[in-house]
Amino acid sequence: MDLFFIPPRICWWRVLFLLSIFQDYLSNMLDCPPTCSCSPTEIYCNKSDNGKFFPLLALQDTGNNGNNSIEDLFKNITSIHIENWTGLQTLKDVDMELYTGLQRLTIMNGNLRGIQARAFSQNPHLRYINLSKNPLTTLSWQLFQNLQLFELRLEEVVFECGCDIRWIQLWQQRGEAGLHTQLLFCNNGASKIPLQAMNISLCDLPDISVTHYNLTVIEGDRVTVTCNGSGSPLPEVDWTVNDLHSINTHQSNVYWPNVHSINLTLVNVSRDDNFYILTCIAENKVGMANASIQLTVHFPPTILKLDEPERRHETCIEFTVRGNPQPTLRWFHRDKEIPPSDYIRTEMDTYQDYLEGCLNFKDPTHHNNGNYTLEASNFLGVTTKTVYGHFLNAPFSDGTPTPTITVTHRPEEDTFGVSIAVGLAGFACVLLVVLFVLINKYGRRSKFGMKGPVAVISGEEDSASPLHHVNHGIITPCTLDAGPDAVVIGMTRIPVIENPQYFRHGHNCNKPATYVQHIKRRDIILKRELGEGAFGKVFLAECYNLSPTKDKMLVAVKTLKDPTLVFSQTLKDPTLAARKDFQREAELLTNLQHEHIVKFYGVCVDGDPLIMVFEYMKHGDLNKFLRAHGPDAMILVDGQPLQTNGELGLSQMLHIATQIAAGMMYLASQHFVHRDLATRNCLVGNGLLVKIGDFGMSRDIYSTDYYRVGGHTMLPIRWMPPESIMYRKFTTESDVWSFGVILWEIFTYGKQPWFQLANNEVIECITQGRVLERPRVCPKEVYDIMLGCWQREPQQRLNIKDIQKILYALGKATPVYLDILG
Ligand code: AMP
Repeated sequence: MDLFFIPPRICWWRVLFLLSIFQDYLSNMLDCPPTCSCSPTEIYCNKSDNGKFFPLLALQDTGNNGNNSIEDLFKNITSIHIENWTGLQTLKDVDMELYTGLQRLTIMNGNLRGIQARAFSQNPHLRYINLSKNPLTTLSWQLFQNLQLFELRLEEVVFECGCDIRWIQLWQQRGEAGLHTQLLFCNNGASKIPLQAMNISLCDLPDISVTHYNLTVIEGDRVTVTCNGSGSPLPEVDWTVNDLHSINTHQSNVYWPNVHSINLTLVNVSRDDNFYILTCIAENKVGMANASIQLTVHFPPTILKLDEPERRHETCIEFTVRGNPQPTLRWFHRDKEIPPSDYIRTEMDTYQDYLEGCLNFKDPTHHNNGNYTLEASNFLGVTTKTVYGHFLNAPFSDGTPTPTITVTHRPEEDTFGVSIAVGLAGFACVLLVVLFVLINKYGRRSKFGMKGPVAVISGEEDSASPLHHVNHGIITPCTLDAGPDAVVIGMTRIPVIENPQYFRHGHNCNKPATYVQHIKRRDIILKRELGEGAFGKVFLAECYNLSPTKDKMLVAVKTLKDPTLVFSQTLKDPTLAARKDFQREAELLTNLQHEHIVKFYGVCVDGDPLIMVFEYMKHGDLNKFLRAHGPDAMILVDGQPLQTNGELGLSQMLHIATQIAAGMMYLASQHFVHRDLATRNCLVGNGLLVKIGDFGMSRDIYSTDYYRVGGHTMLPIRWMPPESIMYRKFTTESDVWSFGVILWEIFTYGKQPWFQLANNEVIECITQGRVLERPRVCPKEVYDIMLGCWQREPQQRLNIKDIQKILYALGKATPVYLDILG
C-alpha cells in the first residue's frame, strides 16, 4: 500500500510519523460482515447466508475513533456484491443510506422480492445495478429516476406482465441502461413470455402540453399558465418552481376524463425571474414527460453602479445598468450630451439583462474633470445618475507659480501646461518603473534567483481581483502591484510575489474583440455523465447545428452549477461578476486554438446552468488512462477481474509526452502560463491523440492533488517548482517544471508524485532541492529531461521547444504502435 512505503533514506521522525498514520488507520477499521470479504472500497459476499439483513459494516471498537468519520469509511465503499443470500427479501431505504459513494451494486441469485421506494435516494453515484436471478415480480422506474445508470441487469427475473413493467419494455426498445442486450421475460398468468411480446393496452407514457412556450410579462403583473398531462394511466402533474422569486400559487388540480390539468399563477412578477424556465412534469407508471415555459420579464432600467474613475487607471467611469428590454444609454457632461468620439466612448458587455461597461477616456486631462450623468431608458422608464470624474489636477494648482511661457495661443492647443504636468508625471512613472525593476533585480532577488519584473495575479485567491483563479497569463504592463498574500512554511511567513496575468478586460486592452460562439440549449442533448469537476458535471452530449457538414456531433459539455464558486466571489454582485468572468474565460478559450489543445466550441448561457462545449475526447483524462494502461490495471466485470487493458510501451509514452510538449509550446508562444499542468488536466482521444484539456476547473475529483492554503486557495504543490511554492510566481519556466512532473507521471503509469509524503513534507522536500526519483521503466535520456525541467534556477531549465524536439527524436527512434488503443 502506497501509504506505508518507506523510502530507504528515511529519517527517524518520518518513521514515527508513518507509524502514527498507521495507528489512525487501524483505529478506523470497520468490521467486515460475516461470510463476506472486504477491502476499503469493496464488500464481496458470495457465500450462502441465511441472515435477513443487508451487509452492513460494523465499527471495530478500539476505544478511539481516529480522524476519519464513520460516514467517510462507508462513503469509500464503491462496490457491493451479494450472491446466494436467501434471507435478504426486501432492500430497505436504511440498508443503502450510508453507502453514499456506491457505484456498483449486485444482489443476484437470492431471494429479493421488493425494493423500497427510496432505497437508492442516497446513492447518486450508482451506475451499475445487477438484480439478476431474484424472484422480483415488479419494479418501478422511479427508483432509478435520479441515477445516471449505465447498466441495469435483470436477467432471469420473471416479472408479472402488466403496466407496472411496461417501462422496462420501453427502456429495452430504446436501448437504455444496457437492457436491450438482455433476454427478459414476464409471466402473464398462464405462461412465461418474452417481455418484448407483452401487449398492454391503455398503458403509455404521458403526454404533456403547456399554454405558452415563451411568455413575456411586465414586472409586477399577475399571470396564469396551465399545464395539461394526458394519457393512460392518467398522470400526476406538477410545476417545479424552485428558486422562483415571484409569489406563486398552484391552483387546484382539474381532472378531465383523460386529462389532468394544473394552473400556476405568478403574482407580482419579479425582474429576478427574467429568463426563468418554468417546468411542468407529468408522471405515471410508465415514465415521465416534461414541458417548459421561458419567462421574459420587462422592467424599467435602474443604474446599479456608477463609479468614480479609479485613481490608479483614471481612464474609465464604470457602470452597471439593469433593464429589459435593453436600455439605451446616453452620457451628459456640462449639460451637453457627449457624442461618441475616439477620445470618449462607451464600451460595454451585455449579460442577460445587465449592461456592464465603461465610459472610456483616452488620455484625459483636467479639462475632463467634472460631473458625468448617465441616462438609461427603455419603453418602461428613464433613470439618471451623476458621478464626479476627477482625472488630473490642473497644472500647478498646488500654488506653484505658473511659469510664463510665450507661445502663440491656439485654443485647441491649450493643453501645454497639462503636457508639462503629464510629462513630469510620465517621468516620475518611468523613474518608478526603473526603481521597481532594480529592486526586483537586486533587492528582492530570491534565493532561487528569480529575475525580471514581477507582475500581477490576483494575489490572495480570496482577494478582490475578479480573475484570481482563471489561469490566463500574459504579462501586461497595465497593473503593477504587490500582493498581500503569504504562504506559511514551517515557522516562516513567506510573501507571495504576484504572477503575470493575462488581463483581457474588454475595456482596458487594445485587443480585437473575440467572438464567442453561443450555442442554444435546445441544440444540446445530454447523453451520459463523463465526470465531475469541482464546479459541475461534465457530460457527453450530442450537439446540433455546430458543424456545417454534420447535422449533429458528439461533444463534452461542462456545466457550471454555481458560477460564483468558480469565478469572482468577492464582488458585490457575485453572480453577475461570475458570469462576466465566465465570458472572459470563454473568450480566452476561443482564442486558444491548436491541435494539442482541446477544441472549445462555445458557450450556452440561455438559462442555468452555464455550459461550455468542448470537443469530446473518447478516452477521458490522461491520468485515468495511464492508470488503466499500467501494470496494476484490470477490467472488472461483475466485480471480477477479467483482463488487463494492455500496458503502455515506451514509444507510446514518448508519443504522449511529445504531444503535451507541443501543446505547451503553443501556450508559451501565446505567453499563456497554465499553472496547473498535470496529467489529470490532459485528455486522450482516438489513436492516442493527447491534448491539454483543462484550464482551471478540475480540482475536485483529484482534490488530494491540491494543497489548501488559507481560504479557498488550492495549490497543486506536487507539480510546482520552489519559486511557485514560496512566492506563487508562475511563469513559462514553472510550467516547464510541471511538465517534468507530467513526464514522471507518464512513466509511473499515473502515480501521484511524492505519493509517500504528506503535503507539508512535499513542500519541505521541494524547497530544499530534492527531486523525484527515476521511475523504474524510465530510460536515462528521459530522466535527464526531467532533471532539466527541475533545475532550481528557472532560467536554467530546458525550454519547452527543446524538450519537444528531444522527445520527438527519442520517439522516432522507437516506432509507435497505436493499434491496441484505437
Ligand atoms: P473537469 O471538469 O475537467 O475536471 O472534468 C472532469 C472529468 O470529465 C475529467 O476527468 C474527464 O474524465 C472528463 N472530461 C472532461 N472533459 C472531457 C472531454 N472534452 N472529453 C471527454 N471527457 C472529458
